[in-house]
Amino acid sequence: MKINEYQLYINGKWTESNNKERFATKNPATGEILATFPKGTKEDTKKAIEVAEEAFPKWKRMPAPKRGEILLRAASIMRDKKDELGQLVTKEMGKVITEGEGDVQEAIDFIEYIAGEGRRLLGETTPSELPNKFCMTIRQPIGTVGCITPWNFPIAIPCWKIGAALISGNTIVFKPAKLTPLCAAKLVEIFEEAGLLPGVLNLVTGSGSIVGQEIVENPRVKAISFTGGVPAGVDIYSKASKLLKSVHLELGGKNPQIIMNDANLDLAIEGVLFGAFGSAGQRCTATSRLIIHKEVYDAVLTKLLDKTKSMKIGNPLDRQIDMGPVADENQEKKILKYIEIGKNEGAKLLIGGKKLRDNFIEPAIFAAKHGMRITKEEIFGPVLSIIKANDYEEAIKIANDVEYGLSSSIYTQDINLAFRAIEDLEAGITYINAPTIGAEIHLPFGGLKNTGNGGREAGTTAIEEFTEIKTVFIDYSGVLQKAQIKEEGGVIIN
Ligand code: NDP
Repeated sequence: MKINEYQLYINGKWTESNNKERFATKNPATGEILATFPKGTKEDTKKAIEVAEEAFPKWKRMPAPKRGEILLRAASIMRDKKDELGQLVTKEMGKVITEGEGDVQEAIDFIEYIAGEGRRLLGETTPSELPNKFCMTIRQPIGTVGCITPWNFPIAIPCWKIGAALISGNTIVFKPAKLTPLCAAKLVEIFEEAGLLPGVLNLVTGSGSIVGQEIVENPRVKAISFTGGVPAGVDIYSKASKLLKSVHLELGGKNPQIIMNDANLDLAIEGVLFGAFGSAGQRCTATSRLIIHKEVYDAVLTKLLDKTKSMKIGNPLDRQIDMGPVADENQEKKILKYIEIGKNEGAKLLIGGKKLRDNFIEPAIFAAKHGMRITKEEIFGPVLSIIKANDYEEAIKIANDVEYGLSSSIYTQDINLAFRAIEDLEAGITYINAPTIGAEIHLPFGGLKNTGNGGREAGTTAIEEFTEIKTVFIDYSGVLQKAQIKEEGGVIIN
């Protein structure tokens, strides 16, 4: 293998694709080519699925605490390589270096956390309605699972899926986004070094329409874990459901931050800057709507515009920089298109929104009216819509009136209002006096409405998408006992 010329990883070996065509992964800040990868084919994907299926019985039989030891080794290697990996995240997708390192830290935290699940994977025991009978549930792996991931958290999101799938005893075919295959390959190298058995984790690079579709439509893949946009999620769900596969979807967001009239305004403004412009707004939990109580609207606006003006945009490896590039030219095009849509529908562009150079866009703030497209559709870029609300009720109504329901936030000093908002905000995650981003790995993550199909990754719920529950009845009475059925003489209790 030539340096920076990667192959597929199938059955514990870097393997040539049957397609000689390759694609390049680039640094969005500089245009530098970082590496090239094979455009995987359906045949490559079928091969990866086949070996994953063959590896399943052995991996499933390995005691879960032993699987956990391998994961802990992987986390420790990641810790040793944190600087290198953080730089790689920043180079490959453009988030500023502190956030690149944060992406890696999130992965380390999660792998360490989920490794411990190897000593739990808890089932239940419960009394039987019959004498001399024992009832329990156990968790079992599903089989070969497909993990299809986006580019915006190129280390953390794959680790959420891979860690939970592996500890539960599944084998994996992993298809990362075309924009970030190098982070994926480095991750696979780490799991290889940690001692994973061949065939347990397989990497097939290439497009969603070829590799992704084969994973979705191949009946030997028993479950799909997907994070990405709504159109791809809907396509995957509809096709996989025809095969009755279990499908976990983590899709987009249109996350609101509410600032009430009693809020600590400086804190709220600091929060919205991080929430809206962190990772150049390319987070599913990014704050894309700021709903401000009318009494503090002008004060917030003045301070917010002032702070935004002083943001430094540039090379994301430079620690003085506040915001780097967007991920590629398609992202740039989509974001600039939304800025035009905003202007055309009458929203007032208060600041920013200009292209500075390839992939670099100034953070943009619009004074908008609820209902405009920019207040409803996910832009996935550094574009914030500000909306005025007359009171708490109106703020909540606006916050909830979108098709997504991932994250939400309210800034208030009123404890009663804060607790009401926890109940009222239609979202999988609510922050009080903190921005819409910053989830911690030991708590469930996911959302309502078009954000997903009901599951939650991370936390104690992480293993649910990767395990089946088996219910077990052990009858040690020595006689045929029939639950629910009353017979002459009834039940004899010894
Ligand atoms: P996409 O949905 O375009 O792609 C995600 C992954 O799915 C990529 O690996 C892609 O491959 C693949 N893919 C695309 N279409 C299909 C298909 N029809 N069948 C199978 N696989 C497919 O999203 P992006 O990568 O552009 O990520 C951005 C989106 O992800 C945003 O909308 C964002 O909200 C969402 N997201 C949601 C998160 C959450 O937890 N809720 C977290 C992070 C992002 P390829 O790269 O080849 O196109």
